[in-house]
Amino acid sequence: MSKTKIISIFGSTGSIGCNSLNVIDNLIKNNESIELKYLTTYSSIEKLAEQIAKYSPSGVVIVNKDAADNFRNNFNFKDLEILSGREGLMEIAGRDDNNFMINALVGISGLEPTIDAIRSGKDIALANKETLVAAGGFVTELLKKHNTLLFPIDSEHSAILQCIQGENPNCVSSIILTASGGPFRKYSIDELDNVSIEDALNHPNWKMGKKITIDSATMMNKGLEVIEAKWLFDIDVNNIKVLIHPESIIHSMVEFNDGSVKAQLGIPDMKIPIQYSLTFPERVRSDYPKMDFRKFSQLNFEEPDLLKFKCLQIAYDVLNKGGIYPVILNSSNEIAVDLFLKDRIKFKDIPYLILKQLDDYNGSEELSIGNIIETDLLIRNNMNREFVT
Ligand code: MN
Repeated sequence: MSKTKIISIFGSTGSIGCNSLNVIDNLIKNNESIELKYLTTYSSIEKLAEQIAKYSPSGVVIVNKDAADNFRNNFNFKDLEILSGREGLMEIAGRDDNNFMINALVGISGLEPTIDAIRSGKDIALANKETLVAAGGFVTELLKKHNTLLFPIDSEHSAILQCIQGENPNCVSSIILTASGGPFRKYSIDELDNVSIEDALNHPNWKMGKKITIDSATMMNKGLEVIEAKWLFDIDVNNIKVLIHPESIIHSMVEFNDGSVKAQLGIPDMKIPIQYSLTFPERVRSDYPKMDFRKFSQLNFEEPDLLKFKCLQIAYDVLNKGGIYPVILNSSNEIAVDLFLKDRIKFKDIPYLILKQLDDYNGSEELSIGNIIETDLLIRNNMNREFVT
């Protein structure tokens, strides 16, 4: 790596945040030039305190203000700057004393810090899907304008990025996003009627946060990834395909115009895409679990059933429709997943709640950040009003 990466981790106490710290351990062990400047959490102050003790960042943001007060009263770290609230996040996203953001925030809350980070010239490793789903066009324009780079922290998009290195983008004929199929891959449509929260949270291959785990069960996760792929790789939606691959060993593939296909493979472990985002285009040695092909005598593939996984079909339709609709898709899905996790709706209701918001929308189509945030809020309010007890 050329210049020292001075890193802020947004959402350091979540699953991606903790994995990012493990990756940073490995990079430091390998004498990479890296410095950890800021950590942020919503309210997990105990875990944050452990991370501060180990990594000595110069500052932290605790978004929830009660948790921040709690932290101030209970912990005393010398010379630690403590910020709180959304404004704390925006503050460090815009500061020029750090030059690389790892954005592992959950939901649309990740969008504005990303924009401020780009505007202040930072490169970004992005785990927050909502940023590109809701504002892909805006963000990609902004990246060009500020000459900054955005690396996906997602196994599929990292795989695609790795496959297209050294290739002429004009020779890419299609992108094949692989999907595990989630816990309900073998269920019939009728069997989906009465699945429980625990069933849906029981992902076969990946250990992740709750929101993304439910998205994997509905396959909305793959739908969001199709939308992200369009923005990250500037590819026509008709050339982005989804293929179920239950073993999650092939993380995605790229087909070229001569018929050749490149795939990126590995044990499902988020540390690999996280590390690639930090070392791109180089690679650094690691002791993460390695592939033993003798244990995978068979890799399987199947076409996703779009009647069963309605959310995936909805995502394709929304991408074709374009405009403000991906914003509505994203926020209505977030609320629907939240309602499901609170046991207020059934699993099979999720796509219908989303469709209703998409169908009912008659507001502004403008794609400014202001209108994106406003539309997002409108959809949330609509749905929460409907589900007030
Ligand atoms: Mn993924």
